[in-house]
Amino acid sequence: MKVRTRFAPSPTGRMHVGNLRTALYAYLITRHAGGDYILRIEDTDQEREMEGAVDIINRTLEKAGLQYDEGPDKDGGLGPYVQSERVKSGIYMKYARELVDKGEAYYCFCTPERLAGLKTKVDGTDKEISVYDKHCLGLSEAEVAEKLASGIPYVIRQNNPSEGTTSFHDDIYGDISVDNAELDDMILIKSDGFPTYNFANVVDDHLMGITHVVRGNEYLSSSPKYNRLYEAFGWDIPEYIHCPLITDEEHKKLSKRSGHSSFEDLLEQGFLPEAIVNFVALLGWSPDDNQEIMSLEELIRKFDYHKINKSPAVFDYGKLKWMNGEYIKKMPFEDFYSMALPYIKEVINKDLDLKKIAGMVQSRIEVFTDIRDHIDFFETLPEYDTEMYVHKKMKTTKESSLEALEKILPLLKEQNDWSNDALYEAFKGFAEKEGLKNGQILWPLRTAVSGKQMTPGGATELMEIFGKEESIARVEKGVEMLKSDL
Ligand code: GLU
Repeated sequence: MKVRTRFAPSPTGRMHVGNLRTALYAYLITRHAGGDYILRIEDTDQEREMEGAVDIINRTLEKAGLQYDEGPDKDGGLGPYVQSERVKSGIYMKYARELVDKGEAYYCFCTPERLAGLKTKVDGTDKEISVYDKHCLGLSEAEVAEKLASGIPYVIRQNNPSEGTTSFHDDIYGDISVDNAELDDMILIKSDGFPTYNFANVVDDHLMGITHVVRGNEYLSSSPKYNRLYEAFGWDIPEYIHCPLITDEEHKKLSKRSGHSSFEDLLEQGFLPEAIVNFVALLGWSPDDNQEIMSLEELIRKFDYHKINKSPAVFDYGKLKWMNGEYIKKMPFEDFYSMALPYIKEVINKDLDLKKIAGMVQSRIEVFTDIRDHIDFFETLPEYDTEMYVHKKMKTTKESSLEALEKILPLLKEQNDWSNDALYEAFKGFAEKEGLKNGQILWPLRTAVSGKQMTPGGATELMEIFGKEESIARVEKGVEMLKSDL
């Protein structure tokens, strides 16, 4: 049988990392097996819907490189692929009525006031739901017909037995059995005529020929109810693959509070889509050889959903940064340059060789937003402490630095070739003549021109970028500072 998986997001806002992982795992399973990948928009909860959220879904999939074979704009003959459009054709109602006829579902006319008086419990998705007491199951056929005819608002509920157990198999969590008494008579069709997710996911997964259902483990506890629906219809039950919870570093569910819970947050923080995808793939799975950096093609080849872990996956922000840095290092320079340029221009207005500056930082940053701190000194010399001239290993003190800078100033003024190599040669020659180590010249120079402890390049590289005038001005400033300090 051809493998068919789907990504079924609800258009409610930014794409949570957990949803991106679901999308990715479903994609990897199907591409690994040469199957089909379907995008289905689940917009039956109109209250939670957010304008523009469908665009976010499309953009995310595109940026992440997850191309679908069937979806709202790619008809595979089993559409429409948007649930609100499917409602119009009446399919959910048709199947709900079929369940009513079979005694597997019933009409419920209870008012919100009555429901408010019932016991409540929290479901797998953290929603508080009332535990329905089957009140309307006791209505006679004639009573139901009369209420329907008089237009009283109703919902259709699943009729779950109060005795016995329901079992199902999940590929990650194994065999799970629950007492039927635990299964609430969940709503299948709401009073606005829309199906709930709980009902629509089963109908649509069946009609769309989905063979592997991949989703977050918040749906695990509802799966027995879905299974009962499949069984009531006599439909094949798909393979269930529930993915583990993703937590923050404090082991709490990864939420908006973390500031990096969505794909869009991460893009804004300077992460590359490829790195995010690679990182997300490892939230709950790793290949046998423990390779960490993998392209989408490698992920497709190596991914084995049987090896998904059931214990919660911790979102390690530091690891994501490291991974992103690895991707940045591997970028062709021109691509890096065009992405880095806006960040560079945020801090540098001067007419400097920005390409050279970009070349200096490519191997040093983890995220694009790191660029600022590496290069801000190019624009203005920061306030700095003359203690920075003291370096044990370089054998420099404030006194030796002052002496070196004062002595080298005339050479700088005479030097015409201001290229990195020529400056380096000149300084080396100077150090030799003075009986000094290179570091005793280069350290004070680098400190004077940058005012920083760490710089993306050595003294001569920086001086080449600054040019003669600015370099000399900064060295003179250093001399002045050291003098007034000693
Ligand atoms: N619409 C559900 C959600 O966004 C999808 C769950 C599923 O994949 O079945 O959470």
